[in-house]
Amino acid sequence: MTAALLSYTQAADLVAARAAELARLRAPFERLELGLGSGRVLAEPLFADRDQPPFARSTRDGFACCAAEASSHRSLTVAGSTRAGQPPAGPLPKSAAWEIMTGAAVPEGADAVAMVEHVESQERKVRLIAPRTLEAGENIVAQAAEARAGDELVPAGTRLSSPQIALAATCGYATVEVVLRPKVAILTTGDELVAVDAVPSAGQIRNSNAPMLSALVAAAGGKPWILPIARDDDYSLDAALRRAENADMLLISGGVSAGKFDLVEPALARAGARFHFTGIRIQPGKPLVFGELPRKPADARLSLPFFGLPGNPISSAATFSLFAAPVLAALAGSREQSPRFVLARLARHVKGKTGLTRFIPSFCAFNPPDGGLPEVAPVGSQGSGDLAAFARSNCFLVVPEGTDRLETGAVVRILLP
Ligand code: AMP
Ligand code: MG
Repeated sequence: MTAALLSYTQAADLVAARAAELARLRAPFERLELGLGSGRVLAEPLFADRDQPPFARSTRDGFACCAAEASSHRSLTVAGSTRAGQPPAGPLPKSAAWEIMTGAAVPEGADAVAMVEHVESQERKVRLIAPRTLEAGENIVAQAAEARAGDELVPAGTRLSSPQIALAATCGYATVEVVLRPKVAILTTGDELVAVDAVPSAGQIRNSNAPMLSALVAAAGGKPWILPIARDDDYSLDAALRRAENADMLLISGGVSAGKFDLVEPALARAGARFHFTGIRIQPGKPLVFGELPRKPADARLSLPFFGLPGNPISSAATFSLFAAPVLAALAGSREQSPRFVLARLARHVKGKTGLTRFIPSFCAFNPPDGGLPEVAPVGSQGSGDLAAFARSNCFLVVPEGTDRLETGAVVRILLP
């Protein structure tokens, strides 16, 4: 049975290919004030509305001059002064210097700025202190050295964070066009589940996956839409699937294992699902289901992609980050790479398992005292339901299929949530 399942890599490739197809559709967008754009995905490229810098800019307080004249250490007459905000002045007369402040426009005729700390001044004259010399271009950023008016500076599909927001502001974008956040339906299933604010009776547990998935969805750029808990019966599941149909993506938690009350797959099949896979050689998350539900003919969207996530919280979280996040990123119009792996050094040896890629909840110290690679160690859990251990983790350690053992000190891959 296990042999028929896809490997982690096969499943990841399949999901990436499907995500690329979904990304081709132009996602709906909205216009937002720039200040509200953090974390949103650009629906339009950002262009330079003028040269950057718009004028030759001094990067120092000092004296604009001709580098060759200053380097001869002759004394230069201070012919004028420009502060930041004043229009470009000049031209610079021969054997003269021009007092200038950081951010001010360099006067015409000057090709360098001598730092105020590097000159001696007397009356209205300055002299570069020997043996220091100055090269043409020093302490000046030429007009348009960073960008030319009309250049595309940030492509559509970029997720806005502080650098892009600063650039957009510089280019005069008071508002930006961003992709609408995909609406992600979160359907938790299970007869044992009660709401977070309820007191569970014997045998019941609180529904922790709904808020956890909601947090993961929001962090990945989606708009979580939590549906009422579905019960482990056909009627409840069919009704819940109908309700979810106008979402952009559907996450179902629980009910995809091989148990007697794991009824999600048959319900999806009744709704006309096309399954891409129904299980992967990974741990946790082996029963993961990925597929698409058909849409009404009038609906321009291709299909409703869904994931049937195993109900164990750690399995749900891992499979979300590994497989659902890339599909969500595609629907959100994002070009960002997902999932994200980085390298770290393993603090404690770990055993592999035959025939599975493992993702072990771990804690990574990203700023280790020795200044070396981030250092990672498993948090040590009682299994895929151990939320107390999971809450001490900040990543998953990857143990590739076919690896018996990872030694202490080995450079390993970790999955960031
Ligand atoms: P299942 O995938 O439905 O077989 O569930 C596997 C395990 O995860 C069981 O122990 C469930 O009680 C637990 N579980 C399922 N759904 C949730 C949920 N929404 N929140 C917390 N635990 C859950
Ligand atoms: Mg269940």
